[in-house]
Amino acid sequence: MSVPEPAVHLAFLISAGMGHLNPALRLAAVFLRYGCKVTLITPKPTLSLAESNLISGFCSSFPQVTHIDFNLTPLDPTEVNSDDPFFLQYETIRRSVHLLSPILSSLSTSLSAFIVDVFLISPILSIAEKLFCPIYIYFTSSARMLYFIAYVSVLADSDSDAQPHPSTFIGDAVQIPGFTSPIPRSSVPPPFLLQGSNSFQRMIMEDSRKLLKLDGVFINSFEELEGEALGALNEGKVVRGLPPVYGIGPLMACEFESVDQGQRGSMSWILEWLDEQAEGSVVYVSLGSRTETRKEQIKDMALGLIECGYSFLWVVKLKKVDREEEEGLEDVLGSELMSKVREKGVVVKEFVDQMKILGHPAVGGFVSHGGWNSIIETVWEGVPILTWPQNGDQKITSEAIRMSGVGIWADEWGWGTEKVVKGKEIAKRIKEMMSNECLRVKAREMKEAAKKACGVGGSCEVIIKGLIEEWKRNA
Ligand code: UDP
Ligand code: UDP
Repeated sequence: MSVPEPAVHLAFLISAGMGHLNPALRLAAVFLRYGCKVTLITPKPTLSLAESNLISGFCSSFPQVTHIDFNLTPLDPTEVNSDDPFFLQYETIRRSVHLLSPILSSLSTSLSAFIVDVFLISPILSIAEKLFCPIYIYFTSSARMLYFIAYVSVLADSDSDAQPHPSTFIGDAVQIPGFTSPIPRSSVPPPFLLQGSNSFQRMIMEDSRKLLKLDGVFINSFEELEGEALGALNEGKVVRGLPPVYGIGPLMACEFESVDQGQRGSMSWILEWLDEQAEGSVVYVSLGSRTETRKEQIKDMALGLIECGYSFLWVVKLKKVDREEEEGLEDVLGSELMSKVREKGVVVKEFVDQMKILGHPAVGGFVSHGGWNSIIETVWEGVPILTWPQNGDQKITSEAIRMSGVGIWADEWGWGTEKVVKGKEIAKRIKEMMSNECLRVKAREMKEAAKKACGVGGSCEVIIKGLIEEWKRNA
C-alpha cells in the first residue's frame, strides 16, 4: 500500500550567511514537526564553512527533506560596489534566481507555498507567474527593521526629486506612523546612506515596493518583545496594503544545529570550563558569524575584559569569512596579553554552539553585535544583553532590545568601525550589564513569555496551524 503524500508541500529558498540560514532552517523544522513536506533549495557554493556544515546537519536530521543545490552563476565583483563578501554573495544569488524556473517546474508535487529569504523578494516575484502558489518571505531581522524597510518607499515617493536618493529623503530621523519611537539617521544601515549607488540601496528600494505583492511575511519576533511594531505593521499603520506579518518567534534551536554533531570543532572543553564557573558569573562575547574584530580594537577589547572583573568566554573572528581564517590569536594579541586573557577567561576562534553557551547557567550576560538571531536566542535563555552594533540593521535591533527592557546598548560607541573603544569604557559597560538587577528580572520575564509564545497553544502554533489549514483549503 502506498503512503499518501503530505497535503502541504513547502519550498524554502535560502540566501547567504548564518543569520539567514539559521532562521530558515528553524522555520522549516517547525513545519516539518506539523507534518508538512519540505523542499530545501540552497545556493551552491556557500560562502562560509559554517553554512555548508549546517545544511549537512539539517539534511541528515531530516532525511525526508528534498534538498536541491542551486548552482550560482559567478558575478563580476565590480558590479556590486562593496568589498563585503557576503554582499557579493547576496547579489550573486539574486541574479541567479531566474535559473530556478526549470528546477521548480520539475518538482514531483505542486507547492502549497514558497518561502524565500528577505533578500530575494524582487527576483522571486519576477518568476512568480510560473509558480502558481502563494509567496512568503522570512524576514531575518526585527519588526522595527521591517517597518523601516516597508516605509522607505513611502518616503522616496514623497520626495519631490525625480530620482530621490536615500541620503536626502532620510532626514534627521524617520518618524513612522503608528510608532512612538523614531529611527534616527545615525541608526540607518550605513550602506543605505552612502553617496552614489550601491546594490544594497537598489535592493532595499526595489524590494520595499514589492513587499505589497507578497502573501505574507514570517518574522522571528513575538508580541511581548515587539508588540508595538508588530501591531503597527499588521494594522496597516505603516504602509497600507502590507501582507500579514506573522510573528512566529522565537524560532528555536534544534538538534541538527549541535556543533558536536557535525565536524565543527569540539564544544566539550568549553562546556567543561563553564561547568566550573559560578552561576551567572561569565560574560559571553561574540560579534556573530560574519563580523571580524578589527585589529585596532582587539587589544582594548582584551583589556576591557580583563578589567571588568568577571570571567569571560570570548569568541573572536579575525576574518569575515571563516574559510579565510589563518592567523592565530596570539599573533594578534601578543603573548603577554594573551596569557593575561587566559588567566581571567577563555578566548576561542572556532565556531561555537551559541545556544549551548547561552543556555549554560554560568553565563550571566552577553556582549553581542546585535544580530537578530543572537538577540532572540538570548531572550529565549533569559540572559541580559549589551549590544555593540557593528553594521547593517544592528542599531535598529539594539533599539528594539533596549525598548523591550532586556538589554542595554552602548550607543556612545557608535558603529563598530567608527572608533577604537577604550578598554576602560568596555569594562564599565560590562559591569553595568552584569550588575543591573532590572535587566535580569526583565530578561527572566521575557524568557517566560518566549516559552509561552512557542509552547502548546502559543502564538507560533496558532499561526502555523492556521496557515496549514488555509493552504489545505486552497489546494
Ligand atoms: N552562531 C553560532 N556560533 C558562532 C557564531 C554564530 O552558533 O560562533 C550563530 C548564532 O547562534 C546565530 C547566527 O549564527 O544563530 C548568527 O546570526 P546573527 O543574526 O546573530 O548575526 P550575523 O552572524 O548574521 O551577523
Ligand atoms: N553591505 C556592505 N556594503 C554595502 C552594502 C551592504 O558591507 O555596500 C553589508 C553590510 O555589512 C550589511 C549587510 O550588507 O551588514 C546587509 O545589511 P543587514 O545587516 O541589514 O543584513 P544582514 O545580512 O545582516 O541580514
